[in-house]
Amino acid sequence: MHAATQRVMDRVSKLDANQPEYIQAVTSFLSSIDKLVEDMPQILYHKVLDRMVEPERVIMFRIPWFDDDGMIQLNRGFRVQMNSALGPYKGGLRFHPSVNLSILKFLAFEQTFKNSLTGLSLGGGKGGSDFDPKGKSDGEIMRFCQSFMLELGRHIGEDTDVPAGDIGVGGREIGYMYGQYKRIHNKSVGILTGKSPSFGGSFIRPEATGYGLAYLSAAILEAKGKSLENKSCLISGSGNVAQFTTEKLLAMGSKVLTMSDSSGVIIDPSGIDAQKLAYIKTLKNVRRGRIAEYAQKYKEATYIPHDGSATSNPLWDVKADYAFPCATQNEINANDARNLTANKIQLVGEGANMPTTLEAKDILMEAGVLLAPGKASNAGGVAVSGLEMVQNSQRLQWTPAQVDAQLLTIMKNIYANISSTAEKYSTKNNFIDGANIAGFLKISEAMIGQGYV
Ligand code: NDP
Repeated sequence: MHAATQRVMDRVSKLDANQPEYIQAVTSFLSSIDKLVEDMPQILYHKVLDRMVEPERVIMFRIPWFDDDGMIQLNRGFRVQMNSALGPYKGGLRFHPSVNLSILKFLAFEQTFKNSLTGLSLGGGKGGSDFDPKGKSDGEIMRFCQSFMLELGRHIGEDTDVPAGDIGVGGREIGYMYGQYKRIHNKSVGILTGKSPSFGGSFIRPEATGYGLAYLSAAILEAKGKSLENKSCLISGSGNVAQFTTEKLLAMGSKVLTMSDSSGVIIDPSGIDAQKLAYIKTLKNVRRGRIAEYAQKYKEATYIPHDGSATSNPLWDVKADYAFPCATQNEINANDARNLTANKIQLVGEGANMPTTLEAKDILMEAGVLLAPGKASNAGGVAVSGLEMVQNSQRLQWTPAQVDAQLLTIMKNIYANISSTAEKYSTKNNFIDGANIAGFLKISEAMIGQGYV
């Protein structure tokens, strides 16, 4: 590593020693950017890397709320406003017990480069709470969301910071938070994306991350003379991204063999078809049940309990052509990567953010697996969020077909950008370098242009 890059890495490792996910994200990023610094002294002179790894602002606050027994409960809330060089901070809110500053900083950091890749004018941010929505009543979810927005509302705005959903935050939660913001501030403006189309949401926003993942994967495969048609696919997760990735892969002629949740994995050799997917959507989005129920309903499927504590995930040991991790960070470890390569997986398309550990990435890349990094492959969600902001500013609503067509164009452009950048600065097919470098170059230019802020 170049001495200047190493100095930035050492500083983060020292100051943020208790933030392993953030260190992991910065390590992966800097190892790509290291290829540039020798030839681009302006990056070093303007201390771009040093500034980039330091969030512009971190907001932490308490969230008191009443449970159904009338008891006061307390959670911790966060918003990391990472980088506004390209536009208002933009990135989701995550409600999950694992949420802490390390996870939100890694997510905000990744988001910054992802947003740059979309070609839209969006800065990067991320937020959330360690609140666990599982098992909570609708009333508890609403009261929590209202209390969360009571504080967060002071720090966001349609031209400042526009959050969206993420794990544990879907249309219901966005609706409750939007309603609360409007009530407090007496303004009907697009301060959140992922709203219902009945009050300013964009069509295709729920679908966008999963559809975009399928579009980008198809573009990568097409360049290799391959396609998704008649190919077997592994998908992890059963939430928003997993559901709509499955939906689009089915439409493109793939066979989906697996899905999962945080308790276990289902393997269905006969394939999860459209009817079975509709069952999963009701199970997870309406009844908020466990994926284990799938195997009780469909006897051809097997359920394997897996809570992440085992040394490998049985889902990644199923033989298939392509894999799409769509649950959470670090869900493919080195053992999983070895299982995937032993089974001759050809492509890993990251739907989740940073689902592959650094070691697993090396194993997959060395085996020649095509790896589509999340900051490129799951950018469809934020891209359509950006389009929702445009529609809100115009006070117009575009048709689903209009939005979907723009999403497809954006994902094709992202592929063209990361593949040509990989070829220029790195090895062909290294889309990790391609995405990191392409995302970085635009932000770096903007940061230098805006002076020392
Ligand atoms: P959801 O909450 O809708 O679904 C998450 C899924 O992953 C659920 O099946 C959940 O299981 C499972 N899961 C969550 N945490 C864990 C864990 N620690 N171990 C195993 N399984 C877990 O979230 P999304 O689908 O929105 O997000 C999934 C991933 O995609 C995240 O990494 C997110 O950051 C990323 N992403 C999402 C975007 C979006 O538009 N929603 C945009 C870009 C990236 P259970 O049902 O048991 O909770």
